[in-house]
Amino acid sequence: MIAALREAYRRMRRRFGHQQWWPGETPFEVCVGAILTQNTSWANVERAIANLKSAGVLEPRRLLDLPEPELARLLRPAGYFNVKARRLRAFLAVLVHDFHGRLETLLGGPLPVARTRLLAIPGIGPETADSMLLYAGGQLSFVVDAYTRRIFARHGWCQPDADYDELQRLCEGGLNHLPARRRLDYWQDYHAQLVRVGKDYCRPRSPRCEDCPLRPLLPVAITPNPGVS
Ligand code: SF4
Repeated sequence: MIAALREAYRRMRRRFGHQQWWPGETPFEVCVGAILTQNTSWANVERAIANLKSAGVLEPRRLLDLPEPELARLLRPAGYFNVKARRLRAFLAVLVHDFHGRLETLLGGPLPVARTRLLAIPGIGPETADSMLLYAGGQLSFVVDAYTRRIFARHGWCQPDADYDELQRLCEGGLNHLPARRRLDYWQDYHAQLVRVGKDYCRPRSPRCEDCPLRPLLPVAITPNPGVS
């Protein structure tokens, strides 16, 4: 299983090249994107972030100073804009009031402490917290998402109902063979590669196994189950 996980990366990387994730010009932009990307495509997030940039407010204090309805208006392209405005403001309030706007302090220190801090903010769940930690904070916290679960389940690497922590433990335990500095890039790119496969090949229905770089890793006995979504 561990050998298969590592081989999966080699195959995806050979096919797609390094994915250069996470899209975002600064760590703060990465964090804003991590909140906005919940339940929407990245293209919609980019439009919302472009609105924030045009309004000159993509900075912690300026964003927090915006009245919530105005913030929601700017976030409209990202969908669920009222909820996301509230979640973003909850994150900004902690960042500005408790950490003086210093993202490196909020995301820094021992990983369990930083992760618990983020998870205590309303609207920030494990995937969002780990995206911030891995891509903006430089912390070794593997990001798991629906694509990870679907791909792993179809290959028999986990149960279809495996929970977040279980999948994270599996990835972090199996993909820990590189020294920490190289592992950070490896884990960042590993998640990005899974997203690429999940979007382009491992669709909920009618997976495109014939063209997928992970096809040789499908157990012969397992036919991908389109019901695993
Ligand atoms: S598309 Fe097929 S081969 Fe590719 S990851 Fe999904 S189940 Fe595996």
